[in-house]
Amino acid sequence: MKKLTFSIVITLFLTFIFTSYSHAANYELAILSILEERYVQLKEENQRQREEILKLYNQLSPKAAEKIPVLLYHHLLKEEEMKAYGWENNDSVISVEAFSEQMKYLYDNGYYTATLDELWDFLNENKTLPEKTVVITFDDGYLSNAVYAYPIMKEYGFKGVIFMRGGATIYPQKPFDPKGLQSISLEENYKYEDVFEYGCHTYDLHRKDIKDVALLVSSSKEEILEDLSKNKKLFNTDYIAYPFGKYNDSTLEYLKELGYKMGFTIKRGYVSKNSDKLQLPRFIIDPTINMDKFKKILQ
Ligand SMILES: [Zn+2]
Repeated sequence: MKKLTFSIVITLFLTFIFTSYSHAANYELAILSILEERYVQLKEENQRQREEILKLYNQLSPKAAEKIPVLLYHHLLKEEEMKAYGWENNDSVISVEAFSEQMKYLYDNGYYTATLDELWDFLNENKTLPEKTVVITFDDGYLSNAVYAYPIMKEYGFKGVIFMRGGATIYPQKPFDPKGLQSISLEENYKYEDVFEYGCHTYDLHRKDIKDVALLVSSSKEEILEDLSKNKKLFNTDYIAYPFGKYNDSTLEYLKELGYKMGFTIKRGYVSKNSDKLQLPRFIIDPTINMDKFKKILQ
């Protein structure tokens, strides 16, 4: 008898545990779906606001954009960090102070920072952009973009693009350390989505072979297709920036095959409606670009 009572008690207890567990699970699912719905709503609201802002910019602008400068940044460090850790003579690093001054100039002078979708619409004559339009891009996906560029750009309501090396993003995010280079991780990149969108900088072809030829050029068709298709899916993007600015006719073929729509080089120049969409020029903003040169690019 005792044994029976015991098993009844145990059964009741287990039933209680299971039902409350599944209640908890259901509750969590309900919360998740509410949050997801809210996320979609906010995104739509944001998009509507963005369209309103663009409309206003266009109304205030005396002319429509004919040529658009696309700026290219890499890594950022504070001046003192550059000095302390020997980054001063690296032309891929610019100081946070210089970056901040450049962003302030764009803001004070009423520049509109276009997204890549907007640039695509501009190229296809589906969207008018104001004369003072600029596209801000970063290559490689360094954590310094999130630590230093993100808060400055957010303050000004700017948008930018980070072209990501997918293979560098799959590890847990390390804390920022100015002595070395850390990448923005796949797990954390959603935190910066109100400022940054993510493009492709290859998954694992941001390297050169023993003959110093970029892997995006020297690898086999299969390898390139696999790499580019993997990164396209990872970041849900139709846009790529070529590592080291290197590509050839085959690369362009593969990109078309995979549905990539725009490709960014490191050739200096403005993007206009006549530009080849898979060979768009950019202006590298390195430490030699002082404010005078910066303003000239924007003219
Ligand atoms: Zn790169």
